[in-house]
Amino acid sequence: MKPKIGITSAYRWETGYCMIRDFYVKAIEKAGGVPFIIPPIISVEEIETFLDFFDGILLSGGLDVQPGLYGDRPGFTTKVGPFRDEFEIELVKKAVEKRKPLFAICRGIQVLNVALGGTLIQEIQKVSSLKHTWHSGGEVEVPWWMPTHDVEIDQNSLLYKIFQSKILKVNSFHHQAIKNLGKGLIATAFASDGIIEAVEHIKHPFCVGVQWHPEGMFDVHKEQLKLFEAFVNASKG
Ligand code: MN
Repeated sequence: MKPKIGITSAYRWETGYCMIRDFYVKAIEKAGGVPFIIPPIISVEEIETFLDFFDGILLSGGLDVQPGLYGDRPGFTTKVGPFRDEFEIELVKKAVEKRKPLFAICRGIQVLNVALGGTLIQEIQKVSSLKHTWHSGGEVEVPWWMPTHDVEIDQNSLLYKIFQSKILKVNSFHHQAIKNLGKGLIATAFASDGIIEAVEHIKHPFCVGVQWHPEGMFDVHKEQLKLFEAFVNASKG
């Protein structure tokens, strides 16, 4: 049996759409899993049902996390997604508790961190010493697969085992990042300006977060599929 992977989706409160970009779905399928989309507006009481059903959970990208959820006020946060935040935070807490394989992408790494008590930098460009790495396209339009900076991977990490490389080229579509780490998380990759680009949970068989978008790269930069393959394999139990 192929592992069943639940992918969290965006909730557009203006229109009522629950939606997800196709390349998350394609990446899971290509890596050998069966993708399912989780609607983010369901009661948190159903989280147990989801966790019993799925073999692994993928947290997808999206809007900024509400600053109140990590004890901050809105500073440079642009747009938030109520319902989805609360749902995903509970989902992460329970998935970590149950040691369910968890893979978190972009907004996902930030949700993972906040769910475990961590905090976020609301705008990387406002942190004066951190201006020289290209984390976000801003006004510049770039294709999803285009790397704009390197990350350096800690050799004592699951991430290093996956890539077998200290340096990795990544795309970057984020204006926020991890500030203080949540409980149990360690940083496993950094950009040259010190921004945390990947984390993992020390007491979990597979709980990995990345700040870049491997699902937007794997078609052109094949090595990025390794992340999805490692996640799907871990979800086989
Ligand atoms: Mn980046």
